Amino acid sequence: MISKEFNAFEMAQSQFDKVADMLNLDSSTRDLLRNPLREFHFSIPVKMDDGSTKVFRGFRVQHNDARGPAKGGIRFHPQETVDTVKALATWMTWKCAVVDIPLGGGKGGVICDPHNLSMREQEQICRGWVRQMAKNVGPINDVPAPDVMTSSQHMLWMLDEFETINGAKYPGFITGKPVGMGGSLGRTEATGYGVIFTVREALSEMGIKPEDTTASVQGFGNVAQYAIQLYTQLGGKVVSVACWDQQDQTSYSFRKKTGIDLKELLDITDKFGGINKTKAKERGYEVLPGDAWIEQEVDILIPAALENQINGKTVTMIKDTVKILAEGANGPTTPEADKVLQEKGIKVIPDFLANAGGVTCSYFEQVQSNMNYFWEKDEVLNKLDLKMTSAYHAVSELSGKKNVYMRDAAYMIAIQRVAQACKDRGWV
Ligand code: NAD
Repeated sequence: MISKEFNAFEMAQSQFDKVADMLNLDSSTRDLLRNPLREFHFSIPVKMDDGSTKVFRGFRVQHNDARGPAKGGIRFHPQETVDTVKALATWMTWKCAVVDIPLGGGKGGVICDPHNLSMREQEQICRGWVRQMAKNVGPINDVPAPDVMTSSQHMLWMLDEFETINGAKYPGFITGKPVGMGGSLGRTEATGYGVIFTVREALSEMGIKPEDTTASVQGFGNVAQYAIQLYTQLGGKVVSVACWDQQDQTSYSFRKKTGIDLKELLDITDKFGGINKTKAKERGYEVLPGDAWIEQEVDILIPAALENQINGKTVTMIKDTVKILAEGANGPTTPEADKVLQEKGIKVIPDFLANAGGVTCSYFEQVQSNMNYFWEKDEVLNKLDLKMTSAYHAVSELSGKKNVYMRDAAYMIAIQRVAQACKDRGWV
């Protein structure tokens, strides 16, 4: 998924180059880390429902596996490009490293539009993808997961094909499986809860009680809903949420100054995270233009919708009351906005730290699957809390010690860990 102006892989490389300079990284390590180790491009022929045969292009990129098997989702999208897959694989390497789980970075994709494919055709794409990659993926070398427009059903078809090819059961081959078929309890909550574990720690560092704070959230999907749930349980008050309106093809912010009621809003929300405007108004919510979520007088902003939301224009709308920006979404903040946030002294909890709860729980799923022994939900969430809390403090302490921006501190930790693993293995 790429536009003429924006190339995600170039952005991933420039972020890496900046911190590689700060770390004085040697040239061989730079050469190794600014490009993927391996890149697979292949064709997947599929017999379509109308009797014709269509050939789909598939990719898998393994950016780096010095710290453990590559890990990352497989997305189905009509505008998929290998550069996007390369960027996402690179970011997965840093995300796994910053939370210190023994996995590397990978990502996969197929150029296709599931909206125009039957479930049988999608199953054939899943099985074809695995047939092409079977020798190069698996529980001990590369572990895929769901991503944009792929679900637990797609993962189960892929697992079935992999097990058929290899003649044995390998539930640890893939994550994001349905609970009861090798999936982990707690995965649904993991990303949103992970965001709030880091927010809780940031507030505690600042000596602020969660119950004395308010927040505004962009998005009302998986990440946002569970972030709001845990933040509210801690005593915080969410005063506005924003979501996309499919009918009007624009976004709206829903505000209640006394605090939104999560359950009440969930009752009038569709499966895509869209809130019904009319019913919200009936329940006393103000329905405001989409950007309103960002200009609320709150302590915490949580962008949990999509990329490029806090940019040179919108960053100026942020009120002086805001102390923390916790990035639930991937890439919500542009480098231009980063400069302003840094000047304002807002504590930014960067995306690949704040939303790492998802991959951390996927790692737990892989461990449980490999052991064929499944944990209770409490155990999963407690382990998640430990991982997120210690990752947050490592980044925050480095940021304070070196007087660097939180995003740069997170990159410094991740890059150093991966560089060290490459050195220890004698690769560079
Ligand atoms: P989702 O599809 O469940 O929800 C997305 C929400 O964003 C919906 O409420 C939608 O209405 C809203 N939205 C879309 N466009 C908008 C706009 N222009 N303005 C305001 N709201 C808008 O998605 P999700 O799984 O919650 O993921 C959200 C973000 O978090 C994405 O960037 C995703 O890559 C990232 N992320 C998700 C996970 C995960 O485990 N789900 C893990 C890591 C990162």
